[in-house]
Amino acid sequence: MSRNDELLRAAENIRQNAYAPYSSYKVGAAILADNGKVYCGCNVENAAYPEGVCAEASAISVMVADGGRQIMAIAIAGPKGEQVTPCGGCRQKIREFANAETSITTGDGRDFNLDDLLPVSFGPENLK
Ligand SMILES: [Zn+2]
Repeated sequence: MSRNDELLRAAENIRQNAYAPYSSYKVGAAILADNGKVYCGCNVENAAYPEGVCAEASAISVMVADGGRQIMAIAIAGPKGEQVTPCGGCRQKIREFANAETSITTGDGRDFNLDDLLPVSFGPENLK
């Protein structure tokens, strides 16, 4: 099993814990960080809809809280086999800790890199 396949399995597993009582659209995300650890997150909806958190943002928070600072690869799993790509906000959140070549695997097993999904992006180096 490839690294990206393993990440997708981890994303599918954590997806089971998603809290999505309003949309019923459960999503899981798994990040391989530069420290070799895998960090997982799921979407957490809220009765005040805008306060919900995406799976990718959840996984990034877990990574940062544990000291991780670089996303080497990320996988995102939604309903079985569907191609779930990160929302626009999450593409930018991933960008903060990734580079143009960072691998993003979607639920149907397709691999993109960040530049495919967020070309000509704005990142930390723009503020130096
Ligand atoms: Zn998102």
